[in-house]
Amino acid sequence: MSDCIFCRIIDGDIPADIIYESHSALAFRDINPQAPTHALIIPRQHISTINDIDDTHHEIVGSLFSAAREVAAQEGLAEDGYRVVMNCNEAAGQTVFHIHLHLLGGRNLSWPPG
Ligand code: 5GP
Ligand code: ZN
Repeated sequence: MSDCIFCRIIDGDIPADIIYESHSALAFRDINPQAPTHALIIPRQHISTINDIDDTHHEIVGSLFSAAREVAAQEGLAEDGYRVVMNCNEAAGQTVFHIHLHLLGGRNLSWPPG
């Protein structure tokens, strides 16, 4: 999908600070970080929103959480804790329509989110 900014990062057309790669997922630092560590974890396959996930995507979606575990360990966050969140559609604040886990850590995170 050439009009998708995250597909363009996967293709190498747009630079990103990539911190983790697997056969199905990629993680890179958010351009507008909301915490000392703010990574985005995306599948290599384009899926627009959580609403578009189907039974054939289970392994891919699971791999996003394995990636989150690895990134959290790399960033030294595993012990203290961190948050992963995926926004779905406008009311939740989704702005890029290629699913992504936000991984946030390195500070105390309040709950509930706004
Ligand atoms: P959403 O609002 O869809 O849940 O999150 C999209 C995230 O992507 C935002 O946190 C935003 O800062 C980040 N983002 C948007 N464009 C780029 C980009 O070109 N590069 C990087 N690294 N992050 C981006
Ligand atoms: Zn995409």
